Amino acid sequence: MRKRCELAVKQLRHGCRYVPAPKRGEIVRQIGDALRAKLQQLGRLVSLEMGKILPEGIGEVQEIVDMCDFAVGLSRQLNGSVIPSERPNHVMLEMWNPLGIVGVITAFNFPSAVLGWNACLALVCGNCVVWKGAPTTPLVTIALTKLIAEVLEKNELPGAIFTSLCGGAEIGQAIAKDTRIPLVSFTGSSKVGQIVQQTVSQRFGKCLLELSGNNAIIIMDDADIQLAVRSVLFAAVGTAGQRCTTCRRLLLHESIYKKVLDQLVESYKQVKIGDPLQKGILLGPLHTPESQKNFERGMELIKSQGGNILTGGSIIKSDGNFVQPTIVEVAPTVLAVKEELFAPVLYVMKFKTLEEAIEINNSVSQGLSSSIFTQKPQTIFKWLGPLGSDCGIVNVNIPTNGAEIGGAFGGEKATGGGREAGSDSWKQYMRRSTCTINYGSELPLAQGINFG
Ligand code: NAD
Repeated sequence: MRKRCELAVKQLRHGCRYVPAPKRGEIVRQIGDALRAKLQQLGRLVSLEMGKILPEGIGEVQEIVDMCDFAVGLSRQLNGSVIPSERPNHVMLEMWNPLGIVGVITAFNFPSAVLGWNACLALVCGNCVVWKGAPTTPLVTIALTKLIAEVLEKNELPGAIFTSLCGGAEIGQAIAKDTRIPLVSFTGSSKVGQIVQQTVSQRFGKCLLELSGNNAIIIMDDADIQLAVRSVLFAAVGTAGQRCTTCRRLLLHESIYKKVLDQLVESYKQVKIGDPLQKGILLGPLHTPESQKNFERGMELIKSQGGNILTGGSIIKSDGNFVQPTIVEVAPTVLAVKEELFAPVLYVMKFKTLEEAIEINNSVSQGLSSSIFTQKPQTIFKWLGPLGSDCGIVNVNIPTNGAEIGGAFGGEKATGGGREAGSDSWKQYMRRSTCTINYGSELPLAQGINFG
């Protein structure tokens, strides 16, 4: 028993650093299997507690399973480079080592997937995880923690390698202040993210920020309109407008403005609203009564700034925090359009040229996701290039939401600059050492310096 306790303390102090990376990958694979076995139940729990429709609840858990698969492959590829040295008989190389403990603070709208993006990478990189979920989604936090801890313990590792805490701002601040936590990955609003960043920076900790979005879709005059309308519907109404990647601004070329709006307003009227666990429902409730009040405040504000409501605009009086999916015609300069209203509200604007559309896209403080609908290669490459979208996610002919885990996810400007999930995001969960080894008996100095 004593020996086990000693091992537990040692392993906790050093994360899973004693476990070789491919073995860590094997444990993450088992976590993926444990989640796969409970996919439906966990998906229902996400849906029940957060309020998103069931297919999205299940999809969110599937995303963690996919992240586990990704991390297993990564566990044999945490490679550093060997760099040519300018000095004779010297070798330079890069080593990647675990950070120790990674603090993860997550938002209510993705109570499980965002944990997955962080935890799968953090664990496979050899770290412990201390997770604080949103205060309104404790059941998902507890269920996931139990499943993950069980897998760790089956492998004779302390379950506490993956620890979670339920609570609000005070727990989040305790994580941000704790000098034993070198990296704090924070997902939430830009306002709170800024507070967390300042707290972590004060102790020279590192922060990975995934903050608010204010995402636009541009529809050019040559776009496939049917494809574009379906995409806008999913991007603006999906998850009741409570995704960081929700489309909040729709920029329409003047020549197709009326055609697109007519089709869109018509499809908004077909959206089935109701119990998110029921088949066929597309729009569930907002997460809390406060979210519903925010929607009402947002509607008053946009109307006072000249917005013209084309459809929706009201709350639905019933059990649950339901609101109507809403389209508002508005000028791009209106101040309310610059803020993220976390509800299914779409602001529609008109433009004449691609340059003007890109300028509107880039004119907000957030920089998460953006999409353009066009068939022209010139337009596509301008959009992707230095004079194009300034967002972290830049799409063509697909919506702003629904990203795949294989790419690095995150945004620029007030979205925080962090990158999670795929590509080389793993590097943020490790520390890099540049190592130079002299295997000769001379001491040649770099830059040709002679010293004594
Ligand atoms: P929020 O900022 O209110 O809360 C996020 C988390 O921070 C919660 O766990 C909360 O308890 C905690 N918290 C609150 N005050 C804190 C403090 N002072 N110190 C430390 N932690 C604190 O956000 P929310 O309402 O839960 O989520 C919605 C927001 O999250 C939206 O702005 C959305 O765009 C954003 N979001 C961004 C991404 C992304 O990847 N960019 C993903 C999901 C959500």
